[in-house]
Amino acid sequence: MTDTSATTLAGHGRPIAPSRGVLRPLGLDEVTITGGFWGDRQRVNGTALIQHCEEWVERIGWAGNFDAAVEGRMPGAHTGKSFADSDVYKLMEAMAWEIGRTGDAEMDGRFRALTARIARAQEPDGYLNTNFGRPGQAPRYSDLEWGHELYSYGHLIQAGIARARTTGEDEFVQIVRRVADHVCEAFGPDGIQSVDGHPEIEVALAEWSRYTGDPKYLAQARLFIERRGHGVLGDIEFGRSYFQDDVPVREATVLRGHAVRALYLTAGAVDVAVEDDDAELLDILRSQMSTTVARRTYLTGGMGAHHEGESFGLDHELPPDRSYSETCAGIASIMVHHRMLLATGEEGYGDLVERMLFNVVAASPAEDGRSFFYTNTLHQREPGAVPPPDVASPRASSSLRAPWFNVSCCPTNVARTFASLGAYLASVTDDGIQLHQYAPAMIATALGDGSAVALHVDTDYPRTGSIRVTVDETREEPWALTLRVPAWAEGATVAVAGSDAVAVPTGAHVVERSWAAGDVVELELPMQPRWTRPDPRVDAVRGSVAVERGPLVMALESVDLGTSVNDVIVRSDQPLVDHPAQFDGEVSVTVVPEAVADAPWPYANPAPSRSAGDARSVKLIPYYRWARRGPSTMRVWLPEV
Ligand SMILES: [Zn+2]
Repeated sequence: MTDTSATTLAGHGRPIAPSRGVLRPLGLDEVTITGGFWGDRQRVNGTALIQHCEEWVERIGWAGNFDAAVEGRMPGAHTGKSFADSDVYKLMEAMAWEIGRTGDAEMDGRFRALTARIARAQEPDGYLNTNFGRPGQAPRYSDLEWGHELYSYGHLIQAGIARARTTGEDEFVQIVRRVADHVCEAFGPDGIQSVDGHPEIEVALAEWSRYTGDPKYLAQARLFIERRGHGVLGDIEFGRSYFQDDVPVREATVLRGHAVRALYLTAGAVDVAVEDDDAELLDILRSQMSTTVARRTYLTGGMGAHHEGESFGLDHELPPDRSYSETCAGIASIMVHHRMLLATGEEGYGDLVERMLFNVVAASPAEDGRSFFYTNTLHQREPGAVPPPDVASPRASSSLRAPWFNVSCCPTNVARTFASLGAYLASVTDDGIQLHQYAPAMIATALGDGSAVALHVDTDYPRTGSIRVTVDETREEPWALTLRVPAWAEGATVAVAGSDAVAVPTGAHVVERSWAAGDVVELELPMQPRWTRPDPRVDAVRGSVAVERGPLVMALESVDLGTSVNDVIVRSDQPLVDHPAQFDGEVSVTVVPEAVADAPWPYANPAPSRSAGDARSVKLIPYYRWARRGPSTMRVWLPEV
């Protein structure tokens, strides 16, 4: 079904295709994940998760909103929030990447059917939204704070980019083109002098500009970014920091407010900085992100410490039991850091992407792809109730994975991320290939001189740290294979083409040589579990310790303990015992039961007394696996003796 005439269009198969930067991303036609941890998730995505989302947008009426709009049944028939359209679009982005990845003809038929329904709802001037502008509905752009019209367009445009760069120009891409032109007309220099309460249009327009080659879309993205932060939106109960309209992007020093909004805005700003070759803006954004990572990020890589406003907390305000850490914020943070990686070539960004993939994104969906975490707490104090499988959860912070949510941004975000995951694995330069994320994969691309280079990766990472790269096709001249050695992987070794393994430092390890087909590079990352302690300024977990194993944050779950996780403390003077054969690795620690008697007043000097029981061994599981065995309590940070 691929229209070969479209394969020459900019950025084929790539979610992002910057025109400059240190590294050039690869497309889904150049990288194929062939199995392993992420291959399993792509398989579940393609066979269940995406279809689950399709079923829900139908049963809950969000796809039907487009029909109701055409048939004159609005406003009464509208279902969902003002941004319900966006989840249909995000689902279609997932479908587009999946169709591009697998050629799934049935899914393509369903994509075209959805396209036809959406096309009918588009106004002659390009405007497209089921919640505004019809008799009885609020006028267009009358509620930029909460209406999400441009936010929804952003997801529509990203879906259009996915479709255009896989299948090619079709009716759906034409819808998107009309919307993008409409936005430039309505919000351009002579248009409405404001922005959307929820950023997302910026990152989408910047990429649409890359795809079309038309600078007017980039100019519009730049305009939205420069307008923001000057109080152009109305004040609201959470304050203007909630939608980043408190401080201009170039003057901000750290991310604040609603985490997903702040991160989508940053992703768009990185794109604009890269396309404009604006080193000053890129430096500002790098500084904002490094401060945000250093002071406002959970061990899992999760972002957002407040349930109120779904927002970042203050510096070091990272309560584990109130962590919001929305799945979408993890995905948005991956969008930002992957862009930074491509722009700078610095592998520390690859480390962050890996942390967020394994410990936020992978934690959200159930194994069967039919229920999800929206928030990702680091400490569940009480066992939750199992949500019914056929009811949308009214609460984002459901204590067990729910099939759908009244605000259901996360499931479709997981779907589009899994479908396009191959794009995060590797990149290319004129004289080399860089591996950033490790999964069994086949990679075939061309170096700067046009010579074909192909390799494949064998690994069962993260169960073990053995990564074997085989060169399948090469040019005669030397080129460089770069391997990311994560910051936690002290003692990693590399063996090249049968030579002895040598120790390599963390960071980017470059192997440059004349390759022959069949050459093998073996990277060995030490996976023995390790203790991790917090910056003492993170008050909420002071005196606690966590366990990590490779890229995985480990968690204690009451199912394995037989009692609440709140009733034990850990002996960090006792060894950690690795069990690599268990799933993706489990670790045993020694814990001591601790009982504290209730007192009428829980504060005293000396502190209320406690009694300790007998030490025993208990296993920790990878955090992403928690809550798969029914209601339980869980914690990542364990109080030390
Ligand atoms: Zn979400």
